[in-house]
Amino acid sequence: MTEAVGARLGARYAVPSGWQVATLVERRAESPSAETLVLDVPGWPGHQAGQHLDLRLTAPDGYTAERSYSLASAPPRSDSTLSSTLLADSSLPASSLPGSALPNTALSSATPSGSGRVEVTVQRVRDGEVSPYLVDDFPPGSAIEVRGPIGGWFVWDPAIDAGTPVFLLAGGSGLVPVMSMARARREAGDRTPFRLIYSVRTPEDRLYTDELDALTARSDGFEARTIFTRAVSLTALRGPRRLTSSELASWGWPPELEPRVYVCGPTGFVEAVSRMLVAQGHDPARIRTERFGPASG
Ligand SMILES: Cc1cc2nc3c(=O)[nH]c(=O)nc-3n(C[C@H](O)[C@H](O)[C@H](O)COP(=O)(O)OP(=O)(O)OC[C@H]3O[C@@H](n4cnc5c(N)ncnc54)[C@H](O)[C@@H]3O)c2cc1C
Repeated sequence: MTEAVGARLGARYAVPSGWQVATLVERRAESPSAETLVLDVPGWPGHQAGQHLDLRLTAPDGYTAERSYSLASAPPRSDSTLSSTLLADSSLPASSLPGSALPNTALSSATPSGSGRVEVTVQRVRDGEVSPYLVDDFPPGSAIEVRGPIGGWFVWDPAIDAGTPVFLLAGGSGLVPVMSMARARREAGDRTPFRLIYSVRTPEDRLYTDELDALTARSDGFEARTIFTRAVSLTALRGPRRLTSSELASWGWPPELEPRVYVCGPTGFVEAVSRMLVAQGHDPARIRTERFGPASG
């Protein structure tokens, strides 16, 4: 096995490493209920599109809460090496930690090589413990513990996967890792055919609207359709309803093309879509799923 192949496989099967302290350097609203958080993570080893990280919050009394969030930003260019990360003490203020100075520069979603900045997009879950705090309160300059990157299955890497058609199905905040894949494709100048179906409750809940439109407008093989399940604008041609089997069949790639399929979102969405895909003849081995919510009952 060559070193390059070994490095790629290593990245694919990476396991979580230690915790380290990151700093929130910027935040921007994506919708009334979702914010993108730009984190400066000293020594970030790079990641693949589709991977996630864990965030850990610690209360003054020592109570901790951990949650996983997909990496929204494209992987750093020319960096696919994953190594161990530092374990640091979250009780230290950000300003006392090495490398935690707060640069003013805004992060584009294509992270330059060597940058320690990564983005996550957090959707507020009503009555949730962690997401309302991250969306509504967590101020720039704050420190937070981070562990990652994590995950080796739900990933798309243009250096490895280019050429095979890709079918992306995202429900709600399940768009986040899928967007990282679309960004990785764009940053690599890759023209692998991508088709995305994005299911979201209402037009105002949409994430990355302008960027998705811009990706489609490039006419380079990226196609996206958005459907609404709860409410639509007055002029919409399609009423609010869940994705149907016939829509999935006509907007996606046929099974004969052997596309690589990624399905991400709430558990109910992932299970329903996966069932439809298999019923239409897609090989389960080519369907990769990531569930965000609680197990369906
Ligand atoms: C690999 C992975 C990647 C993820 N990436 C993202 C991401 O990019 N963006 C993002 O916003 N979230 C993402 N999540 C979900 C995230 O980890 C949290 O579960 C979510 O933010 C809710 O946490 P909470 O503490 O606010 O809610 P909790 O206090 O944990 O839950 C409160 C209530 O909401 C329900 N609930 C929990 N999560 C969801 C959900 N996703 N949808 C509907 N109901 C829910 C719970 O069952 C409970 O009833 C990801 C999860 C996984 C496993």
